[in-house]
Order: sequence, then structure tokens, then C-alpha cells
Amino acid sequence: MTRIFAAILALTAALLAPQGAQADEILAVRFGEHDTHTRVVVETRTPVRVRAHTLSEPRARLVLSFESASWGVSNLPDGAGLGAGLVGVFRFDGAASHPRLVFSLSGPANIRQQMTLDPAGGGYRTVIDLEPVSQAAFASVAGFPQTAATITELVAREAGVGFTPESCERIRVVIDPGHGGRDPGALARFGGMHEAGIVLAAGLQLRDILNEAGRYEVIMTRDRDVYVSLEDRVRIAREARADLFISLHADSAGDNSGPQGATVYSMNARAESRARNRAITDGNWVDISRPEEVSRILVEMSIANKRSQSELFAEALRTEVGRTAPLWRTTPMEANYAVLTDAETPSVLFEMGFLTNREDSRRMNDARERRRLMQSAAAAIDTHFAGCSATGRTFWAANAAPPALGASARCPQHPVGMFAAYAIMAPVSGGRERAVSRQPGR
Ligand SMILES: [Zn+2]
Repeated sequence: MTRIFAAILALTAALLAPQGAQADEILAVRFGEHDTHTRVVVETRTPVRVRAHTLSEPRARLVLSFESASWGVSNLPDGAGLGAGLVGVFRFDGAASHPRLVFSLSGPANIRQQMTLDPAGGGYRTVIDLEPVSQAAFASVAGFPQTAATITELVAREAGVGFTPESCERIRVVIDPGHGGRDPGALARFGGMHEAGIVLAAGLQLRDILNEAGRYEVIMTRDRDVYVSLEDRVRIAREARADLFISLHADSAGDNSGPQGATVYSMNARAESRARNRAITDGNWVDISRPEEVSRILVEMSIANKRSQSELFAEALRTEVGRTAPLWRTTPMEANYAVLTDAETPSVLFEMGFLTNREDSRRMNDARERRRLMQSAAAAIDTHFAGCSATGRTFWAANAAPPALGASARCPQHPVGMFAAYAIMAPVSGGRERAVSRQPGR
């Protein structure tokens, strides 16, 4: 059994374990820097069972899992600090019912030994010695499950829910031309169409390009000049079990005609938290035949997957668009847009350019130039799904009744373990990692 496999098992077991055991208080975390190894010492008030393992993705970490634990280190009230030797920042995550200490590692390192020692003037000591190893040696120990083809399968098995793999021969793309009907969006400044007209024309062009490719099933949230609510746009994508949602818009900079170029947004932390709340409260993710905690884990995994896929696609889109048109922002941009707040569908909001800029406005109103822009978008979609094979679709969402696990289909371009790591590392109660505060004087 690989370590991550064990970790998922432990996580599930911990979540399902009866509550009420007395939490062991962590009194101190110390480090010893030696020539051959780095020693991590965790002192607790009572003897504890600690499970230690390393994770190689998304970055190197040492994780200590406790059956129960509370934070009582008086000089680190935030539950975070800075290590020494091979250990960088560390933090205590006690929010979940599965408390853990997570140490970032400066490089590949394996656990040479783990022992528990009785108190010697302080608390009970859990000692972990880390030694630097090659990346290959690290990866083989930290390794990710080889026993399951996909993380969905793994979780399905461990969480005891059904699993039906599905092929990804036809990739579903939802195109969402913003605004429409009574909502014209940004108004034309230099003649031509308002935003709603431009993005509809662009969306239809993108639809035609994707349809010609024959590989995609394209769903439009609107294909004419009608008003569609934001909730309906999100619902359409969810019900379509879309692999990708792309919302088309045109920017406005008010009276400032200077800003120029396209921008790609993916969801920010606020949007992510809205997605999480929505997933939990709207009931889609709650299947009473399994423990609520399992549903919550699945939500976290889905959101982590969505985040990762959205950011990857945003990157591909920026790259492709940047070849043919100016970019207003070349770095990743995140926003709390309502259409991005679904918990499953990888989604971006594509601002094609500024209607308040003369050159952008001309380009977006010109059918040939606009088509070129949409060809860039189609190229980005091709790139993003390049690794998708007929057998490779990964399902793990939870809003379909068993035996199908559910809704979101993803292509396995990325190591399964990455998502497992996210799922394990992300606090089940939600939120990104807290900023780590440094020890005074370090
Ligand atoms: Zn707009």
C-alpha cells in the first residue's frame, strides 16, 4: 500500500471515527539540524500515536497525523512557525476532525526513523529524523497510488461509493456569451455592437470552430439575444456535466481609453468559498447513503480539481490569445464572478478586450479578427484536452446517485496524486492554507 493510499484510508477512518476522545495537547515543536539529517521533535502532554508520511506533490511535505490533538505551543499562538535544516515553514491544522502538522520540505527527504521517547523535563516526545535523498528515492516512498487508475476510483473504493468510468471521446464545452436581452453589458464607445452583441457573435464563432473539429459537444448558455440569469448559466454547465465552461465578455475601463487587451480570470478564494458553501447547502452533493464527511471530502476534491484545471486552461488561453492579440494582464488573474462559483466545472471568464479602447473595439467588431481570437480560444481548448483519451475520463463528483459517482468529467493530464494530495492537505472545513507567520527573530 502506498503512503498516500494509507493516508486516504487514515483520513477516512479518522473522519468516521467516533468523536469525544481527549485531544492530546501539543506543547512544543523543535528542530535539530545535523550533518546527515534533520530531527523534528514534537512534544505532547500525553503519549500519542502519530502517523508520519511524506508527500511529493504538489510540493514536498512531511505530514504528521494525530488521532486527536490540540495546539498548545505558547510561543506560536497562530499554530505556525519556521523549521530548520530540511524543514521550512510548518503549520498545525486542527480545523478538521483529523488534526495534523504539515511541514514543508526544502527538498526531497525520507523518514529515516521515527520513535517516541518518554518525557525528560518536558512532554512526551515524538521524534522524526529526515534525511535528504534523491528525487527518485523520495518519489518512490512518497509515491501515489498505482493500484487505482484514477483518484475517483480510489476514493470510490475507499469511500464505499459506486464508480462508473466514462470515456471522454466527446468533450463537453459550455460557451457562455455574457449579458444579453435587457442587459447590453458594456456599451459601444466607438460605434459597432455593445458587449452583449460582440460576445454572442464571438460565442457562435467559437461554437462553429469547435463543431468543425468534431471532437467537442458544444452547449451554449444563449445563442441569441436573450437574458439568462447568472444562476441559470451555472446550472446549464452543471447539468451538462461540462468539462469546461468559458464565459465571454468585453471589458470597460469607464472614461479611460488607455487599458487595452484581453484578460483571463479564474475563480479566486472568495469564489471558491461560495462554491463550497453552495455545494454543501444546495444538497446536490449530499447523498444520505454515505457519511456527510465523505461528501465533504468529495466536494474538496472536486473544488481542488476545478481550481487546478481552471488555472491550467487559463494559462493555455493566455498563451494562445497572446500570439494574436494584446493581453491586458499576462499573469494569472482571479475574481469572484458568480459564473465561476460552481464546485465542479472548470471555468474561466475571458474578457476579450476593452470596448473603451479604440483598437480593441475595432478588433472585436471585425468578424475576421474576432474569429481569429476565437481560433486562439479553440487552440487553447485543444491544448488543454490534448491528453484526454477514450479511457481516461476521471469522475469523482458526487451529485449523481450511485452507482455513478458523478458529475464532473476530467481528463487525466495530471498526476492522480496531485489531486489526492490536495484532497488530503486541504482542510475539510474549507479554505486555502493560512498564511504562515514566522517566529519572532527568524
Ligand atoms: Zn461583461
